[in-house]
Amino acid sequence: MPQIAQSFRQLPISLIVNLAIGLILAAVLWNAVPTPVLLTWSGLLIAVTGARFLSLRAFRNATPRSESDLVFWTKYFLAGACAAGAVWGLSGILLFHPSSFPHQVVLAFVLGGMVAGAVPLLSPVSHAYWCFAIPVVAPISIQMMWVGDRIHLVMGLMMVIFGLAMLATSAQVHRLFRDAEKLRRELYSSIEVEQALEYLVRLDSLTGIPNRRLFEEELSKEWARAKRDHAPLSLIMADIDHFKEYNDHYGHPAGDLCLVDVAQAMHHALSRPGDVVARIGGEEFAFLLPETDLSGAISVAEQIRERILALNLPHEASPVASHVTLSFGVSSSELACVSLPAELIRTSDIALYEAKRCGRNQIVAAQKTSSVLVA
Ligand code: GH3
Ligand code: MG
Ligand code: MG
Repeated sequence: MPQIAQSFRQLPISLIVNLAIGLILAAVLWNAVPTPVLLTWSGLLIAVTGARFLSLRAFRNATPRSESDLVFWTKYFLAGACAAGAVWGLSGILLFHPSSFPHQVVLAFVLGGMVAGAVPLLSPVSHAYWCFAIPVVAPISIQMMWVGDRIHLVMGLMMVIFGLAMLATSAQVHRLFRDAEKLRRELYSSIEVEQALEYLVRLDSLTGIPNRRLFEEELSKEWARAKRDHAPLSLIMADIDHFKEYNDHYGHPAGDLCLVDVAQAMHHALSRPGDVVARIGGEEFAFLLPETDLSGAISVAEQIRERILALNLPHEASPVASHVTLSFGVSSSELACVSLPAELIRTSDIALYEAKRCGRNQIVAAQKTSSVLVA
């Protein structure tokens, strides 16, 4: 598609040049060629140029263009190139002055120029240049050689050699366009792969939720934003209770499935767009809650705790309950003892430790003094 788009993009200049050169040629040959012939040829040129202009408009309006349109628009473009080639080729017959050598030279010069100038426009599209150049060069070359004297033979032959050289040049230009397009596609797909990898390295492979790396990036980003906006930023640390016993009792694969269930429930428990939950360790999770104060974070933790309880995942080996439970430590940037992101993590960790110490399956929030408070 980009090759045909490229050719259509260049078409306006080409159409203007076609028309201008054609009309200048008609003016130069005004008294040398019968007027009806000249007018007929000029009319044909205007009609073909107009039709090509309409095709350009149709192409521009046909967005978005699917890959399947490629063949259609290429045919459209080829038809335009062939029609233009036929009109210019016709000039080599109709406008060829039978006896005035200067007029013949002007005509040959114009047709040679048209053939050379079409190389960059028509080469990107396969066969387009052939469709144009062969009909242009062939009639004038035959006309020249038909005259029969040496000078006309040489000129006709030179036109043929020039035409062949232009065809070879066009083939090279076509290869260049094709290679550039291939490189462009490769570059795009490698950028896409890179972006996909960038995304994947920030996700936890077991649970599919963000991992520690993404959490740390989000923490520093949200911390800076919170400071700038003078808004609170809260952090909840959560840890599955007696998970070692879970693994020992049900086996490691079942432990993995349990982690997936818990992570997904946590992920779906968050409602605000800026909230993030990440798996930051084996059975440890962190919730980052921008623009949320400590009491708000405690209520979010309570919702999460209830959501996990509602899953009712059996944990027969747990001394706390017959199902899977979690302990939570909550902290917030509004606390006086929290002036750095690391302190937000540390105070949440201390609160979590306290929740474990106090019997697990509960939420503990850090206090202003950096000690802890049972929620
Ligand atoms: P606590 O209530 O104090 O948190 O006890 P715990 O047993 O949960 O904590 P501990 O740190 O002693 O054990 C954590 C266990 O989590 C150890 C390991 O078997 C398990 N674990 C860590 N990562 C994974 C994992 O990816 N898959 C599974 N199945 N288990 C894991
Ligand atoms: Mg644990
Ligand atoms: Mg742990």
